[in-house]
Amino acid sequence: MADEWGPEKVVFAYDPDTGMRGVLVIDNTAIGPGKGGIRFAPTVTPVEVFRLARVMTWKCALAGLPFGGAKGGLMGDPTKVDRVAWMRSFAKAIKPYVPLQYVAATDMGTTELDMAVFAHEIGDVRACTGKPMEMGGIPHELGTTGYGVAIATDLTLKTLHAYGTVNLEPEKATIAIQGFGNVGSFTAKFLDELGYKIVAIADITGCIYDPEGLDIPYIMKELQVRENIEKLSGKYEVLPKEKIFEVKADVFIPAATSDVINLETAPLLIKSGTKLVIEAANIPTTAEAEKLLIQRGIWVMPDFVVNAGGVIGSYVEYKGGTEKEAFDLIKYKISRNVKLVLSMAHQNGMTPRQVALEVAKARVRRAMLLRRGAITVAREYFARQKQQYELMIPSLKEET
Ligand code: NAD
Repeated sequence: MADEWGPEKVVFAYDPDTGMRGVLVIDNTAIGPGKGGIRFAPTVTPVEVFRLARVMTWKCALAGLPFGGAKGGLMGDPTKVDRVAWMRSFAKAIKPYVPLQYVAATDMGTTELDMAVFAHEIGDVRACTGKPMEMGGIPHELGTTGYGVAIATDLTLKTLHAYGTVNLEPEKATIAIQGFGNVGSFTAKFLDELGYKIVAIADITGCIYDPEGLDIPYIMKELQVRENIEKLSGKYEVLPKEKIFEVKADVFIPAATSDVINLETAPLLIKSGTKLVIEAANIPTTAEAEKLLIQRGIWVMPDFVVNAGGVIGSYVEYKGGTEKEAFDLIKYKISRNVKLVLSMAHQNGMTPRQVALEVAKARVRRAMLLRRGAITVAREYFARQKQQYELMIPSLKEET
C-alpha cells in the first residue's frame, strides 16, 4: 500500500514475556513528527493502522499543525490483558522513534491513564499528548474531539441550508450517533447544549431511540455508573446495536470504529432518510459506500476535517498551552476548515473529501519538496497553489 506519501516506517513489536503485539506506522513526517493515537483492540490490523496513520497525515496538514501522520496499534483486548504491562512494553519497543518521529495520543481503547504510563516509560513529557492534567496534559477526556465534531455539525447544517443544497432546517434536524465512548458522548453533550435533538445513540451493547429526543444529560450521568447502554434499560427500551442504521434521523454520526458504513449499512441509511453523515470516527465509511451515499444526495463530511479537535488540543498541550486555548483554537480551526471545504465543494461541484484532500496534499507536497532542498520547485509549486486558492477564497471571505 506504499505510495508517493509513505509510509516511511512500519515497526512491528512482539514481547513474548507479556504477549504484547503492537505495530507503529509512521506515514509521513515532511511537516513534523508523526502524530497519532494508539488504538487498543483485538480487531486492530497493520493495514488498519496504516490507513489511520494516513488519515493523520491529511488531518494535521489540513489543520495547519506542525505534525506529520502516524498511528500506533495494540492487537489485544485491553479489558483482558495486563494493559499497563502491554503499554510499557510497546513504549520500550518504539522508544527510538519517540518523540522525534512519533508523538502518541489516545485512541479507541486507550485513555489518559495509558498516556501517563507511556510518557513515564519513554521518560519525556513530549512522548505523547492527552496526558492527565497532573502531568501538564490536556486529556482527550475533556471532550476536545467531540467539541470539534459538534461545531462542525452545527456549521455544516447551517451552511448547507444557506446554500439550499440540503432541504433541512438546522433547528429541526434530528441526529443519531453510533458509539458512545469519548468522542460519541461528548459530541452528544455539546450538540445537546447547542439545542439539537439527538434521537438515537448506540454502543457495542445496544441502541436506544426516542423520536422526541433523548435526555442526554441523564444518560451521560447514568453511564458513569452503569457503564454501557445495555444497562440503561428501565427509562429506555434497549434495541440491538445495528438498529442505529435504521432509525429515522437527518444526521448520522459514526463515532465508533472503522468501515461501519459499508455496502450493507449505507442502503439502510438511505432508507431511513439520512441527509448528512458527519465522520466523527476515523475511516468509518468505505469508498464504495461513500460513492453510493453521494449518488443519493447525502453529504459526507470527512473524518480528517471534522474530528481534528483532539489533535488540535494535542498541539496546544505539546506547546504548553491551557485548556481554554485548546478549546478556542479548536473552534477557530474547525470552523475555518468546514467553511473552506463546503464553499470550495459548492463552487466547484466537488465532494468535501475531494476538496479537503486537495488542500492537505498541497501542503504535504510542498513540505516534501522543501525537505529535499528543492526550494525553487517548492516556491513555484506554492505560487501555483496560492493562485488557485486565491481564486476560490474571495467568496469564502464574503460568507464569513
Ligand atoms: P472509545 O473507546 O472511547 O469509544 C468507542 C465507542 O464505540 C464505545 O461506546 C463502544 O462501545 C462503541 N462501539 C465499538 N464498536 C461498536 C459497534 N460495532 N457498534 C456500536 N458501537 C460500537 O473510542 P473513542 O476515543 O471515542 O474513538 C472513537 C472513534 O473516534 C475512533 O474511530 C477513533 O479513531 C476516533 N477518534 C478519536 C479521537 C479521540 O480523541 N479519542 C480523536 C479523533 C478520532
